[in-house]
Amino acid sequence: MIIVHAGSEVVPFSKTGGLADVLGSLPLSLAKKGHDVLIVSPLYKSVAEKFRPEKQNISFSIRLNDQVIPATIYSIKINEHATAYFIGNDALFMRDGLYVDKNGIDYPDNAKRFIFFSRSVLELIKQLNSKPDVIHTHDWQAGLVPVYMKTLYRNYFSGTASVFTIHNIGYQGLFWHFDMPLTGLGWEHFTSDGLEFYGKLSLLKAGSVFADAVTTVSPTYSKEILTPEFGYRMDGVLKTRKPDLFGILNGVDYEQWNPEHDRFIPHQYSADTLEVKQDNKMTLNRMFNLDESAAPVIGMITRLAQQKGIDLILEAMGRIISMGFKFVLLGSGDKPYEEKIKDAAARYNGRMSVKIGFDNSLAHLIEAGADIFLMPSVYEPCGLNQMYSLKYGTVPVVRSTGGLNDTVMEYNPSSEKGNGFKFKDQSADQMLSALKKAMDVYHDKQRWLRLLKACMLYDFSWDRSAADYELLYKAYAIKSYLHGHRSSYT
Ligand code: ADP
Repeated sequence: MIIVHAGSEVVPFSKTGGLADVLGSLPLSLAKKGHDVLIVSPLYKSVAEKFRPEKQNISFSIRLNDQVIPATIYSIKINEHATAYFIGNDALFMRDGLYVDKNGIDYPDNAKRFIFFSRSVLELIKQLNSKPDVIHTHDWQAGLVPVYMKTLYRNYFSGTASVFTIHNIGYQGLFWHFDMPLTGLGWEHFTSDGLEFYGKLSLLKAGSVFADAVTTVSPTYSKEILTPEFGYRMDGVLKTRKPDLFGILNGVDYEQWNPEHDRFIPHQYSADTLEVKQDNKMTLNRMFNLDESAAPVIGMITRLAQQKGIDLILEAMGRIISMGFKFVLLGSGDKPYEEKIKDAAARYNGRMSVKIGFDNSLAHLIEAGADIFLMPSVYEPCGLNQMYSLKYGTVPVVRSTGGLNDTVMEYNPSSEKGNGFKFKDQSADQMLSALKKAMDVYHDKQRWLRLLKACMLYDFSWDRSAADYELLYKAYAIKSYLHGHRSSYT
């Protein structure tokens, strides 16, 4: 098949969260299976400066309301079957941040930036004369692609299936209705069964309503988003898409995340050399100025957002420390959380330490050096760090929601089955009691070692998930092909 993936961030070129990991690895797994894959994302300043993609002999303009905006195309050939394309427009994308300025405020022209991006994706494919079987777009930034495939670009893409993945329903790409004319679509699409969402323009809803198939990133989350608690007011819309809604768990790129050959950590190790993990723990202790005691270290790597359960951490921090844990956190995000978490670290100097910022190599060291990885998320569509943690023999303690629920199995001390510890409610007491269970096993050295080895055996590589996507693509590509074929006779 010819498969296009389009989204706003792709590892290694750009990243603010898990979407980038997925777009950096799923397309390559599909390419490995022999499919031809095009990956399309914006040419941000960091991409242009660091990766210097090659300028292509393709350019076009997109009309957005009363403006005509030029696109310049760049690309990097990743391998025989995969090419990354970048949509360039200096005024829109040559900025330091992907979505927000240095104060964390959304760029005021985000609607324009990503409407332009979404249209450019299809224009690029047309200019390349490519007839993909599937165009798979991700999150609100590419939410209009499935809409254009059924409207402005209907003729060209009548035989192509569209798949839209919701990576996080909390981020909906909501803009005021005056941005509607930028889409180039008529007001007849601004309805409750179209792009309108409580009076606003919703780009996430656009993708969810128009795509042939809608997926989300874990089976549990695909059910949760159909409920008012997790649906962020999209549950009603998504219920109407239930027959075409699927939950497929994200995979892990073990080329990037494997302690046996991780170039970001000082001491590589495997399940057979787990004693070496201690050396990483020592480095981590030093790096974070923690005391050198053997106390178990809890690690967190996270966006500092309400979704990630930061309030629970702040509420329970004193008790976590008095239980005998040390605690390291790497994160960035909401400024009030950054301040509060720094205050807590100052209070528990030597036992708790935080680094505010985005630092991939430090993220790898935390995975390798921590004993326990904590994810008390309010909701978690898939979550990647719990799967990375398993590979690094770092035991996950998680709230049982979304992908955390699908990947972490409660450890049973009698049967020694399971790979971590879960708690159900957003309650500090429940979180502490899960941590206590982990602590008890930690103090039984032989049992803990067996648990770490068991964790490291879990395989969440992309192979299985990519095979699921492949099946989905085939099913919907056949449908689209037959529809396209039929319409060519009528
Ligand atoms: P989300 O996409 O909701 O932020 P995920 O668990 O799906 O959460 O993915 C987060 C990804 O971003 C992981 O690869 C994680 O290691 C990484 N990450 C998050 N915060 C940081 C940070 N401050 N520094 C480095 N990597 C980070």
